[in-house]
Amino acid sequence: TPLLEVDGVTLQYKTPQHLVTATYRVDFKIWPSDRFVLLGPSGCGKSTLLKAVGGYMAPTEGEIRLRGRLVTDPGPDRMMVFQEFDQLLPWKTVKQNVVFALEASRRLSGREAEERANHYIDKVNLTKFADSYPHMLSGGMKQRVAIARGMAMEPDILLMDEPFAALDALTRRRMQDELMSLWEGTRFTVLFVTHSIPEAIKIGSRILLLSPHPGEVKAELNTATSPS
Ligand code: ADP
Ligand code: ADP
Repeated sequence: TPLLEVDGVTLQYKTPQHLVTATYRVDFKIWPSDRFVLLGPSGCGKSTLLKAVGGYMAPTEGEIRLRGRLVTDPGPDRMMVFQEFDQLLPWKTVKQNVVFALEASRRLSGREAEERANHYIDKVNLTKFADSYPHMLSGGMKQRVAIARGMAMEPDILLMDEPFAALDALTRRRMQDELMSLWEGTRFTVLFVTHSIPEAIKIGSRILLLSPHPGEVKAELNTATSPS
C-alpha cells in the first residue's frame, strides 16, 4: 500500500463573503522513500494541501489516508517544517529545541532524546552550535535546526512548506544540496511544497504540478442576497 493517499480531496475556506475553493478533487499517492514535490504558482493550494495532510484542516470532499488510516488530527507521524524562521523556541538552545520536541511528542527519555538530538544536529552540521540560541544563528542555520528537529522525530513523512523561501539565492541552493546529500541512501519520505521549478526538479523524485485555477475557483456566498 502507499504511505499516503490523497483521494479526490477538495479543500475550502469559508470567509464571511466567500467560499474559497483552495484545491479541487486532487489525487496523489506517495510511496515510501518518495521525495514528492507539490509545484505550482502562488495561490494554487499547496499550503492548504499540506495543512490537510498535517491534519490541521479537514477536506470538504475526499479522503486523506496515512498507512491506510484516515487522517483526522495532527500527529508526530507527520512532522511539518515551515518557511518562517520563528518556528524555534527562542529561549531554548539548538539542542534543547530538538530534545524538547522529542520528549514532548515522541515521549523519549531525556537520555534517548539527547542522543538522538546529537545525531541529527550532527547530520545538519550544527554540532558546533548545539548550545547556541536561535537568535545567534543565520537564517540558513535556523532552517537546518528546524529540519534536524523534524527528521529527529523520525516521522512517517516529513512535510516541508517552502522551507527555503525566505533565504537568499546562494544559501537556498546550498541548502538544497545539503538536503539531497542528507537524504541520499536513506528511506526518508518527504512531501515538499515549492513554487520554484528548479527547486522542484532538484528535490523531487516525483512532481505534481497543481493548476493555478482549481475546478471551481471561488463560489460566491451571499453577495447578491445578503441583507444590509
Ligand atoms: P499556495 O500555498 O499554493 O500559495 P494556498 O494554499 O496558500 O496556496 O491558498 C490557496 C487558495 O486559498 C488561495 O486562493 C488563497 O487565497 C486561499 N486561502 C488560503 N488561506 C486562506 C484563508 N485562511 N482564508 C481564506 N482563503 C484562504
Ligand atoms: P548559512 O549558509 O548556514 O546560513 P551563512 O551563509 O549565514 O550560513 O554563514 C556562513 C558561515 O558563517 C556558516 O557556515 C557558519 O559556519 C558561519 N556563521 C554564521 N552565523 C554564525 C554565528 N552566529 N556564529 C558563528 N559562525 C557563524
